[in-house]
Amino acid sequence: MFDNLSDRLGSVFASLKGRGSLKEQDVRDAMREVRIALLEADVALPVVRRFIDEVTEKAIGQNVLKSVTPGQQVIKIVNDALVDMLGGQDVPGIDLNAAPPVVIMMVGLQGSGKTTSTAKLGKLLKEKHGKKVLMASLDVNRPAAQEQLAVLGEQVGVGTLPIIAGQSPTAIAERAINSAKLTAVDVLLLDTAGRLHVDAALMEEMKAVAAISTPKETLLVVDSLTGQDAVNVAQSFAGEVDLTGVILTRMDGDARGGAALSMRAVTGKPIKFAGTGEKLDQIEVFQPSRVAGRILGMGDIVSLVEKAAAAVDVADAEKMAERMSKGQFDMNDLRTQLRQMQKMGGLGMLAGMMPGMKKAKQAMEASGMNDRTLLRMDAIIGSMTEKERARPDLLNAKRKIRVAKGSGTQVQDVNKLIKMHQEMERAMKQIKKMGGMKGLAALFG
Ligand code: GDP
Repeated sequence: MFDNLSDRLGSVFASLKGRGSLKEQDVRDAMREVRIALLEADVALPVVRRFIDEVTEKAIGQNVLKSVTPGQQVIKIVNDALVDMLGGQDVPGIDLNAAPPVVIMMVGLQGSGKTTSTAKLGKLLKEKHGKKVLMASLDVNRPAAQEQLAVLGEQVGVGTLPIIAGQSPTAIAERAINSAKLTAVDVLLLDTAGRLHVDAALMEEMKAVAAISTPKETLLVVDSLTGQDAVNVAQSFAGEVDLTGVILTRMDGDARGGAALSMRAVTGKPIKFAGTGEKLDQIEVFQPSRVAGRILGMGDIVSLVEKAAAAVDVADAEKMAERMSKGQFDMNDLRTQLRQMQKMGGLGMLAGMMPGMKKAKQAMEASGMNDRTLLRMDAIIGSMTEKERARPDLLNAKRKIRVAKGSGTQVQDVNKLIKMHQEMERAMKQIKKMGGMKGLAALFG
């Protein structure tokens, strides 16, 4: 996400780094690049203008602090302004504060990811908020739209309203509300019909459904990959219905980012969630400071840490931490780490998340490592005996041949893995010497 913008700002600030003071010309040079980058990222022009004016004014007026470089200072100012533009520090959550069933109406164009987002939200509300959720599709236009939601509902373990053919959207909404009341449902998600374009009939239908169901939240689902179009769509919807927020989907793709940046400024509506993949748990609360951090290439460490926490089996992690604190790191530990990396989305995901990781990824790739080799390495460890895993120094030429055969690889692959393990083992010993977690922090810092 935002790769171009991030790279661009990175090069601007690199040229500012190490200079003695923040001169007006430096700021103007930097802002010219920021402006081009934002326009290329498909941010709406008025938003770009406002942003540049604000940041230029702030940056030029400021005294250069002794403790930071001019570049760092500009980054901070640009970062704060980006966070503001993306909605500020506090993203309002979804408002469930009403008598049940609380109705959430999902609106958006066809293909925006509306039905998927409905199911993702249903799963989130059920699992993270402990709510009893019912979902109902009001889409009578698109063939099989209602069945699609029913299938997704089954996958996430959230109930859907039984389908009765031939009912109108408002009739389905009424039936959904009654059913929700009867079965003590906390939250009712209404997945309204999409269209290819914004049109009058669609708006009328949405208004009629809203009149019947008085939604507490009306969430617009837009595809971030459509850039400026997404912003236009949001503007049309915002003019017709009382939107309470936006869900930006496909933030995992190479979205030009402009959608996120302009959306709030143009519509005045908060972006509440970001869809980050096709899987039904790939939805995140939208975090302006994180996204701004990522735009600036400062690395999205918070989100990496969260992903890591979710991927790690707690028992595994505790065992590993204990072993690491003793400086122990055998092939089983390596395997646990490799699997964790796969769960977190492989090498590509690492590169996008943390500063410096791009280089680490390039180095790994230069040494012939990629997502497929992660799997191959796992297979090689799988072909070792328990004894060999605990004591890799036992692996002599004969054993290496056996392991290579067993895993369908070459002896040189086995050697590569052994070398990697040795390097990591050395690092673990160092960590132990430096004093556990403090040592770990020092390695990353
Ligand atoms: P609808 O017509 O608006 O209901 O769109 P769907 O929910 O059917 O989604 C259309 C396609 O987009 C499906 O293949 C989804 O899996 C995919 N999709 C939805 N959200 C995301 C997302 O956040 N990331 C990615 N990569 N794909 C998504």
